[in-house]
Amino acid sequence: MTAKPSARIYRGTLRNLRLLARKLQQGEIVAVPSETVYGLAGNALDARACRKIFTAKGRPGTDPLIVHIHSLKQLREVAVVNAAALQLAKKFWPGPLTLILPKQEVVPATVTAGLPSVAVRMPSDPLFRRLLKLCGLPLAAPSANPFGYVSPTTAEHVHHGLGRRIDHILDGGPTEIGLESTIVDLRRPSHPRLLRPGAISVRELSRALGVTVRSGPKGTGNSTQAQIAPGSMQRHYSPHARVILHRRLSLRQVAKGDPAEAWIFPKRPPGPARPHLYWFDVAGTTPAIAKKLFAMLRQLDRAGYQRIHVELMRGNGLAEAINDRLRRAAAK
Ligand code: AMP
Ligand code: MG
Repeated sequence: MTAKPSARIYRGTLRNLRLLARKLQQGEIVAVPSETVYGLAGNALDARACRKIFTAKGRPGTDPLIVHIHSLKQLREVAVVNAAALQLAKKFWPGPLTLILPKQEVVPATVTAGLPSVAVRMPSDPLFRRLLKLCGLPLAAPSANPFGYVSPTTAEHVHHGLGRRIDHILDGGPTEIGLESTIVDLRRPSHPRLLRPGAISVRELSRALGVTVRSGPKGTGNSTQAQIAPGSMQRHYSPHARVILHRRLSLRQVAKGDPAEAWIFPKRPPGPARPHLYWFDVAGTTPAIAKKLFAMLRQLDRAGYQRIHVELMRGNGLAEAINDRLRRAAAK
């Protein structure tokens, strides 16, 4: 058997965008940048195109895809809209917020894993937006990584994970936010629920809606677990190395110097650099940590560490979203 040639990486020129828009119209799949993480996109109205996405990722058919749109007109084509959705759309779109709404008939069951609801988002990344506009289609896209692994935040990450399974990667540089979108369930607009934390916080959502957005389905008491959303599984975004979480890391722990262990501090600890000691951001600024999180886990995984120790964040909003991803990376 001959190996498939590896994917081509395209710069975001108008010519390339036109070419990729045509490929999408023809039912091919294309990895695209977004402000959250890189996505693997296909025509959301074409079940065959969407099946290619599941195959390339090795994603189980029970894990539904997010549909990306360019306009509110497209929102109405794929979802049954309510007032709460319009309020949030007005406030946060284009941006890193996904809404769960009843689906329209045109959306194939493949996209929604057979659910009567659809997840919809209007991304803000300029290249992704241009591509959505040029192809004129809603695009279903999960993260562009093999299922369960750390999400990609550069074109090179996509190439590393899927380069032999897909043909086209649009390079938009490192992603702006670095974490997957906030997902809010609006099927019952008077009882909005957070299914996945992200850069847009529960507080902001609650303020915009004028009602409190609760975490996840009732009874789980766990904001990281969303059982109504098939696929929001506990273990996800995981490197091969074991991730071990700490409330607080001290330099004394690092001093043990086991070469199989890496230690990641939120910010640069005092004193000289030393082997196996890492930090997400020199100053420990939360948005900078979010941006660097997945790239750092990948880097240390590729360096061959067996255990990666990480200090959890303190605070709410984006810090909670970072902790959510860290907990999933650490889950067994
Ligand atoms: P990913 O694209 O990898 O960020 O994953 C998308 C996630 O969105 C899924 O794993 C689900 O948690 C959620 N999701 C997508 N579609 C639906 C839906 N129709 N109903 C509920 N949750 C959904
Ligand atoms: Mg994913």
